[in-house]
Amino acid sequence: MSKVKSSETVKVVVRCRPLNRKDAAGVTGTPGGRGGIIEMDVDRGQVVLRNPRALPGEPRKTFTFDSVYDASSRQRDLYDETVRPLIHSVLDGFNGTIFAYGQTGTGKTYTMQGEWLEPERRGVIPNAFEHVFTQIARSTADRQYLVRASYLEIYREEIRDLLDPNVHAPHVPNVHTQPPRTLELRESPESGVYVRDLTSCVCKSVKEIQELMNVGNQVRSVGATDMNEHSSRSHTLFLITVECSQTGPDGRQHIRVGRLNLVDLAGSERQAKTGVHGERLKEAATINLSLSALGNVISALADGRGGHVPYRDSKLTRLLQDSLGGNAKTVMVATLGPAPQHYEETLTTLRYANRAKNIQNQPRVNEDPKDALLREFQKEIARLRAQLSHREGRGKHRKEEGWDGEGDEEGEEEVEKERKLQEEKEAIREDGSLLAVEKQRLLGEKEIMMGDLRKEQDTTEQLTAKYKAMESKLLVGGRNIMDHTNEQQKTLEIRRQEIAEQSRREREILQQVMVQDEETLELRETFSSLQQEVEAKTKKLKKLYAKLQCVKAEIQDVNDEHVRSRQELEQTQNELTRELKFKYLIIENFIPPEEKNKIMNRLTFDPEEDQWKFQLLPPSESQMKKRLASAVGYKRPISQYARVALAMGAHSRYRAENIMFLELDMSPPTTVSLDHWPSEVGPNCSSSPTDSALYRERATRVRKSRSWCQAPRAITSSSSTVSLATHSTATPSTAQ
Ligand code: ADP
Ligand code: MG
Repeated sequence: MSKVKSSETVKVVVRCRPLNRKDAAGVTGTPGGRGGIIEMDVDRGQVVLRNPRALPGEPRKTFTFDSVYDASSRQRDLYDETVRPLIHSVLDGFNGTIFAYGQTGTGKTYTMQGEWLEPERRGVIPNAFEHVFTQIARSTADRQYLVRASYLEIYREEIRDLLDPNVHAPHVPNVHTQPPRTLELRESPESGVYVRDLTSCVCKSVKEIQELMNVGNQVRSVGATDMNEHSSRSHTLFLITVECSQTGPDGRQHIRVGRLNLVDLAGSERQAKTGVHGERLKEAATINLSLSALGNVISALADGRGGHVPYRDSKLTRLLQDSLGGNAKTVMVATLGPAPQHYEETLTTLRYANRAKNIQNQPRVNEDPKDALLREFQKEIARLRAQLSHREGRGKHRKEEGWDGEGDEEGEEEVEKERKLQEEKEAIREDGSLLAVEKQRLLGEKEIMMGDLRKEQDTTEQLTAKYKAMESKLLVGGRNIMDHTNEQQKTLEIRRQEIAEQSRREREILQQVMVQDEETLELRETFSSLQQEVEAKTKKLKKLYAKLQCVKAEIQDVNDEHVRSRQELEQTQNELTRELKFKYLIIENFIPPEEKNKIMNRLTFDPEEDQWKFQLLPPSESQMKKRLASAVGYKRPISQYARVALAMGAHSRYRAENIMFLELDMSPPTTVSLDHWPSEVGPNCSSSPTDSALYRERATRVRKSRSWCQAPRAITSSSSTVSLATHSTATPSTAQ
């Protein structure tokens, strides 16, 4: 069930970063950070863009937004005015999205993340973390909350889970050997487009959620060191889901689920300007394609004619489907740089931002969705509580039956029971009046009772631990607000919010007055003479003519822009075609046609994923050759042939299959001292028959231990020596 709320437009704010040293170097003659091309009227929410190559008299371009933040703006200003109301809505059960859009280096990451360690320079994300948990602590005590977070990036059109538990091996901190797994997008009528199997972690505090973000960033930062500029080469999305349960007027528990998407997009940039090639160019091409897909979605939605919206053109637009034209409250922060050399990009960003203002969303409170995790938690906690009280009740029941242990506490009671059992056992042992058999039986019974008691204790402990762990994950409102400073801070925040609201209303009124002024100018005019009328009309004509010139210039600009982006798309297309040709060349020349056909027949297109996929082959008996089972006694699977050869001892090749089978001569070596050899007689030559007999007898003894020492050369009866000898003599001849 969901409450329908009237539609509202996407809120668009623009932020300009200060001129930095690099920019200033390009601004000739304008030291000290002056000379940017952007002027901002913060009170009216207007941006005036100056064309550095404008002809004299050419009017400047003016855009009006919900609010604008100039170079001197603080992170807090943007948060209080623009983001704070959105977070409140998320806590009330709306979906909310904040995304930063702009050219590389204009401050998207600065706006979204900022400097975490400096409170004044913290961006939207850390402030939102703080805000969510503070609001929960301040809410009424009848509310229960469950907060969980997910973190993903879209890199080269692949969705990567940055909290993938397989990447974050707990035993090896900071070591990520494999890239995070890639995930698929799915769509359901209940929860819209979602990422299947995305890791989500329950968080109980700001510290925990920050920790999650750090863990995710570590996976990204690996890329930043390995691959230059990786961090800005992917779109990241940090998703916080806040579930809140509260008793409704009907006396029943109702759950509201708010999802907050915090998106930091990769920067849009002109390929020609960055001068990238190869892989880098492909990366840039995918970024630009997904950003232009985003641009197309914004244009189609802003058009308001209800035509086809190309959400499916990229993963980014599919993920943001609900945020753009769907069930969400959305804030777009368009970031600009003041440098004149980036005039075209700045103008493009402003145009996109201007278009996005017209997108109508239909946000509604997500009430009682089927997949609320909070309900699962509550059910599980209730089940555990029931189990525990059942156990407690059983304990009491047993007590009445004779377990008359003392002590109020359950734990004490158990200890008491155990002590009593021990005493009873001792008493039985010492009781002289009992027969030995009877004694044994009674002791056995008591032993079983003690075993049961211990098991019972263990189970209760486990249940209590699980119960406590689950309960601690549910955050209850009305806690943690005890101290006075907290109250003061709350008042201060309310004041700030009021001021922000006030200035927003003032800006709105000023903008309305500006529009009305133009419309009512004509009505207020009364002419006393013809001459006066002519003058007034001429003046008006001039004004209209100037406006016409503006529109003409705008048309020219848009045309130029189209030509430029078309050229870029053509360049990307050329690159891709060249690569395709290269792959074709490899396929045609190196893959046999029948193999190619086999592969082609197995490929199917998955429209959901927009990808080609391999069909799995059904395993057939003949294809699935079983691996030989490892046989006991052998160190690895061994073929039938090898086993037969081994049994027959036919070939030395199979002999060493298992070292245990080698029949080593384990008797200690029998050695003779060389001093005993007749000094003039070497082992190879014998001078007399008696010497020869003596030698043969000794040689037999030596031969026995041939495993340890070289056999005398004269004895060549062993087959191995023969084969070795033949081998060694054969080798040179074959070599010749
Ligand atoms: P992007 O994410 O758009 O590529 P970054 O957020 O990384 O750009 O910003 C580039 C540089 O500009 C960073 O060094 C950042 O600190 C600085 N910067 C951006 N916006 C501001 C700002 N509003 N105030 C001060 N410094 C800024
Ligand atoms: Mg960035």
